[in-house]
Amino acid sequence: MSMNGAKGLLLEEPVIFEKSSPGRTGVEPASFDVPEADIEGIIPKQMLRGAIEGFPDVSEMDIVRHYTRLSQWNFGVDSGFYPLGSCTMKYNPKVNEEAARLPGFAMLHPYEPEELTQGALQLMYELENYLAEISGMDAVTLQPSAGAHGELCGLLAISAYFKDKGRPRTKVIIPDTAHGTNPASSHLAGFKVVPVKSEGRGVLSLDAIKGVMDRDVAALMLTNPNTIGLFERNIKEIADFVHKKGGFVYCDGANLNALMGIIKLGELGVDVIQFNLHKTFSTPHGGGGPGSGPVGVKKALAPYLPVPRIKKTRSKYSLDFNRPKSIGRMKAFYGNFSIMVRAYSYIRRMGAEGLKRASETAILNANYIKENLKGTYHLPYDEPCMHECVFSDKYQLGSGVATMDIAKRLIDYGFHPPTVYFPLVVHGAIMIEPTETETLETLDKFIVAMKAIAEEAKTSPQALKDAPANTKVQRVDETKAAREPILRWRKG
Ligand SMILES: *Cc1c(COP(=O)(O)O)cnc(C)c1O
Repeated sequence: MSMNGAKGLLLEEPVIFEKSSPGRTGVEPASFDVPEADIEGIIPKQMLRGAIEGFPDVSEMDIVRHYTRLSQWNFGVDSGFYPLGSCTMKYNPKVNEEAARLPGFAMLHPYEPEELTQGALQLMYELENYLAEISGMDAVTLQPSAGAHGELCGLLAISAYFKDKGRPRTKVIIPDTAHGTNPASSHLAGFKVVPVKSEGRGVLSLDAIKGVMDRDVAALMLTNPNTIGLFERNIKEIADFVHKKGGFVYCDGANLNALMGIIKLGELGVDVIQFNLHKTFSTPHGGGGPGSGPVGVKKALAPYLPVPRIKKTRSKYSLDFNRPKSIGRMKAFYGNFSIMVRAYSYIRRMGAEGLKRASETAILNANYIKENLKGTYHLPYDEPCMHECVFSDKYQLGSGVATMDIAKRLIDYGFHPPTVYFPLVVHGAIMIEPTETETLETLDKFIVAMKAIAEEAKTSPQALKDAPANTKVQRVDETKAAREPILRWRKG
């Protein structure tokens, strides 16, 4: 029954405070070789603290085992298949980590003068150019620190453009297949969101846009490939129409993992795009760690990008703050530099051919899963997909089994569940993104597990309702868990 499931030496672990035994220490600092100073003469008394209440007294071994055990309870790309749709949980080559840890990059202070940071500036300048080349854009800023932050940056640039031209626009059109962050970012940037429905085959039609496009619309904001994993195939004619009415086309490029080296969105009429370096360009993510959401724009919007811009004059790199039309800063200093190093390393290692092959393989893997599971699971849009495919629980609902039960049961089979109940346009959605980094053997195991679960839904639906059974913690009441979290370890 267990495919990759974990059993055996997964040890119970109390919280660190409960491991405390008075007098134990992990580290003993060397004795002072300078005279002791009177601390109250240096730091104001009210800012000094005596003992730290409840501070755990633990040995080095206690600490090492504590955190090692906790890390083993975790699931990540380095431990197994993680087909979380829309998140591109691909394997991140360790060479990128090595590059990011090079002391010359890792220890660099953001206030170092330009003469001493030429290498870092060069890396950023070249990364901007690579991203511009990949997307067909004219200028790129690396400053935003995540995808949604990039969306906000791009929309603020669009807003600034219309204000600068003396005719501000107030609306952004967003299709129902766009990512949830799109309307949120539009609202934050001060726009009114105009929703529009995709047509029957899951993509946007020109007619739908004609119905809502007017001279108050600053931009059409779409996600391509969209959130049901389909390529917006009418994008060129739609973009031409939006341009005719003086609007911009914003494409959420978080899913560039399907397009790199195959098509340049800029050539399809897209004016603004954000990249998710922590997805497509291989930075570990998912734990809320730092991300990076560079923004690419066409020429007309370049003057509005955040300051500073990186400039190259002959062979010298510098920071340009003299940009009167800029929307200002999106982030302290220059953005999340270490993520840029990882992306740069990844792009250089892959090369143009490698990036293209990554996208092609991502698409192939998703279609392989789609073709093998259709029939077993309901496939609402039976079209060739891009890098992810979306099923629903429609065939299983009759046995009282829903998407959440299927997802939980996958954990028993040793797989991280896919994205569930997203996109909202598909009821009970199961969104699978295998990525290019998985082998055929892994995909086949996953398919076998999904089929076994569909069989169980017919013969023993209760096993699914009770899943996961093989884990440390069984099915929790998710609402209660969120509202009343139990953060203390209880014996027995
Ligand atoms: C992940 C994602 C985002 C948001 O990116 P963050 O880095 O999490 O802010 C936006 N749009 C799409 C299509 C995404 O997949």
